[in-house]
Amino acid sequence: MIDTNQETKLPYYQFSKTDFFWPVPGFHTITSQFGKRRAPTSGASSFHSGIDIAATEGSNIYSITSGKIIFTGFKGAGGCTITMESNNITISYCHVSPNYIVDTNQIVRVGELIGNVGPRFLYGIPNNPYSYQGKPTNGATTGAHLHLTIKKDGQAVNPLDFF
Ligand SMILES: [Zn+2]
Repeated sequence: MIDTNQETKLPYYQFSKTDFFWPVPGFHTITSQFGKRRAPTSGASSFHSGIDIAATEGSNIYSITSGKIIFTGFKGAGGCTITMESNNITISYCHVSPNYIVDTNQIVRVGELIGNVGPRFLYGIPNNPYSYQGKPTNGATTGAHLHLTIKKDGQAVNPLDFF
């Protein structure tokens, strides 16, 4: 139970599950679960740090909780990534559109539109090591989807525990 008089930051486990908003409404198929897996494409990790949610390119992505944007940019296997922090958790939305609609240090509210699902193929990223049949990709990805990572105190945890 949350003590509303408490001014210190609450760890995430004191939030109710209903405090979190599903990032891509209408899309609920998990194509890759959190944890150990066989890497689906070259450069993808055999430990999956988050979940993959099948979603069509251009779909809206909403903030799962309230917090502050701390990063937008191309980041390794995650491709175009938006990262936010909220108390002791950080949330990364990966393989998003490079047309960012939020900025670093921007405060966002739960359920706020923060981006769009990106394309599989992405041109114009300098030194992008990820490609498929010679075409540069939006990180290590086999198709448009949202990869969602949640870290608690720096440690990746299963995002499905939040919904
Ligand atoms: Zn993934």
